[in-house]
Amino acid sequence: MEFGWNADDLEFRADLNEFLSEELSGRWHGSTAVLGSPENADYSRRFCGLLADRGWLTPHWPKEHGGVEASPWRLSILSEELWSRGEPRGPQYMNVNWIGPSLMAYGTSEQMARYLPPISRGEVIWCQGFSESEAGSDLASLRTNAVLDGSEYIVNGSKLWTSYADLADHCYLLVRTGDGRQEGISVLLIDMDRPGIEVRKISGVVGEHSFNEVLISDLRVPVANRLGPENGGWKVVREALSYERVGAPRWARASRVLNETMQWALENGRAPSPDVLESVDIASEACEAARLLYYRVIDERAQGKPPTPNGNVARVAMVQAERAVAEACLAIQGAEVMRYQGLANQQIRKSLAAGVAAGTYEIQLNLISRLLLRLPKG
Ligand SMILES: Cc1cc2nc3c(=O)[nH]c(=O)nc-3n(C[C@H](O)[C@H](O)[C@H](O)COP(=O)(O)OP(=O)(O)OC[C@H]3O[C@@H](n4cnc5c(N)ncnc54)[C@H](O)[C@@H]3O)c2cc1C
Repeated sequence: MEFGWNADDLEFRADLNEFLSEELSGRWHGSTAVLGSPENADYSRRFCGLLADRGWLTPHWPKEHGGVEASPWRLSILSEELWSRGEPRGPQYMNVNWIGPSLMAYGTSEQMARYLPPISRGEVIWCQGFSESEAGSDLASLRTNAVLDGSEYIVNGSKLWTSYADLADHCYLLVRTGDGRQEGISVLLIDMDRPGIEVRKISGVVGEHSFNEVLISDLRVPVANRLGPENGGWKVVREALSYERVGAPRWARASRVLNETMQWALENGRAPSPDVLESVDIASEACEAARLLYYRVIDERAQGKPPTPNGNVARVAMVQAERAVAEACLAIQGAEVMRYQGLANQQIRKSLAAGVAAGTYEIQLNLISRLLLRLPKG
């Protein structure tokens, strides 16, 4: 297959790189940034505002919702360049990738009018309230429940590992509204400053995130804040997750880390042994494989196809690339990687997170075996 960028896309990438070099220099800590810190959340609002002014924050969205109807390839260029620099959009990458599209697919006109404009202007932070202590991989066993009381739901329960909950304006919250497993789940759009929500910080081993526990007691949520049908949230969230899984082109950052770590070795007089070179080759090939499998998903989107299990394949390939680059960094720097607080050190931690967030590596493999290979459930 012949693959190449057209002249418009090349020009766009060049303009974007020029803007990023100017804007990020001295203001952004790049790939070692702690995405969930308050400073970076503030920077995310400034930076996303600047992208929005240029029509670069939600370029793939319809004009009526603040986009310019650009092709998914345009978004892919943006995501590659931003992700490889440590994602200066911060938490707002989720708004652009899947929260906004989910609102457009299932929201009422009132919900779209309220929530989409602030997203497309880069002003608002959302968090994702899915996981609970007994509902991670087995998300459908979630217990946070919402009971109807007139025109409001009363919500009680707790969420775990909620990134950015301490900074967020809104939460895309999964709740139980019925008895069935998948059939008893609904999505509620929550304002985080309402009485009944307590956010407790959790320190995380990965270092890149601020994790939180969100305790919810007698939170009142208008029925008008439900996204999609009551007890129909599983379909809504499955679709949203399929966008989230390939929203972050992790191979782009991994590939940059690999190049920079090799550069570090050369500058520090480390002649790489054959074993090191072999691990660098493996990592480099893993990044390239992930890039092409990711492009296959973008191509499906560009053709207007619904999400397919190729998204799970791309996610698995991205995790493999992250891990292979982490191993290559360890091979290049040896024990020094532990002291070196730079990209390689971060890479090892990020590769751990990559195989857990947005559905674990093993769960992606399960989905591929069931949905793509049609193997029986074990
Ligand atoms: C960086 C990061 C950010 C996150 N942000 C958020 C967030 O914003 N909001 C949110 O709701 N959650 C978030 N999470 C949580 C994440 O979604 C969960 O950690 C993940 O779904 C796994 O759930 P768990 O931790 O309960 O592990 P478990 O589900 O208990 O899994 C433990 C292990 O068992 C394996 N396993 C489980 N079931 C199976 C199976 N059927 N077949 C094979 N293996 C299996 C898993 O692969 C894993 O290795 C985040 C996690 C990370 C690392």
